[in-house]
Amino acid sequence: MAGPFLLFSFLSLLVSFTGLSPVYALPKLFPTPINHDLYHSGTGLIEKINSLVHRHPEKLTVETLKSGTEGYNADVTVVTYGQSGKQSDDRSKIRILIGFGQHSRELITSELALRIVLILTEEQFLPGIDQGSLNSTLENLVIKVVPLENLNGRKLVEAGELCERRNGRRVDLNRNWGIDWGRKETNSTWFTCQPETQIMREVATSFSPHIWVNVHSGTVALFMPYDHKKSTPDGLPSQRTRALIEELNKVHCHGRCKIGSGGASVGYLAHGTATDYMYDVVRVPMSFTFEIFAGDKTLEEDCFKMYNPVDQTTFERVLNQWCATLLALFKLGPREFDMHSTNNR
Ligand SMILES: [Zn+2]
Repeated sequence: MAGPFLLFSFLSLLVSFTGLSPVYALPKLFPTPINHDLYHSGTGLIEKINSLVHRHPEKLTVETLKSGTEGYNADVTVVTYGQSGKQSDDRSKIRILIGFGQHSRELITSELALRIVLILTEEQFLPGIDQGSLNSTLENLVIKVVPLENLNGRKLVEAGELCERRNGRRVDLNRNWGIDWGRKETNSTWFTCQPETQIMREVATSFSPHIWVNVHSGTVALFMPYDHKKSTPDGLPSQRTRALIEELNKVHCHGRCKIGSGGASVGYLAHGTATDYMYDVVRVPMSFTFEIFAGDKTLEEDCFKMYNPVDQTTFERVLNQWCATLLALFKLGPREFDMHSTNNR
């Protein structure tokens, strides 16, 4: 019995000498901290994107859009990919807009943005992809990527608020759009006033994309409108969108993604979402929300682990799977459009 007693005495002495309790002397295991070996900081990721653009001026351009209201300011970086540089606004091409990092705790989404831009510049390659076929797909596209819509919110997460999903002044940017607005989740005084939403709305209306994707994490899904109803829209574009997500689910999600309207599939109705606004107001014919990762939900406050892969193998698997899904969307989506009547619904 002397062993445990001596050990206890030793620990007590250690505590009294160091002034630390044994609990606090241990590394912090809960909540799971951000794995900085895998994940960039928000500003680090934007810097990396900017240097990529600098190395590939023939394919990429970048702009940082600024907006502010009531003393609250936000910057949103927008990268544009187009193979012929100056013709990147060529109206004959199919236009695709993809938003990442709208919810600040979903760090993995911005890592996917960086990875897809790395693939577009051929600084990285996706296993199993035929580069020649990808290049001929990309010739006909202009792609705008918003790698981190909610940089201010991301800074709160990096400062330790791992469960925060809202922006720098605590507004949920995916309940902030002028569509079916005014329900309980929406802060009425800030209706579409958030600078981040204003910037995204401006980008969308001036670019007028054929395809919009809002990338999130927390579940694994390929959603289409509506989020605020338990139904999908009527008409041919909606049927084509559904056919496309069924194909993506089969090939790239092994049939395991939830598909259909967000409102019917997610278990609650969401009001004022970006994807519903893009479909109904900006009139983007193919509007999606992709949910790319479902983490461990056993401990409610363990948000980094709930929304993001924590080990390298899962991290790489998720990025590869969803890069392949996005590249398939780039290939299959434009086939649904008659180039002579694009954007008509
Ligand atoms: Zn989200």
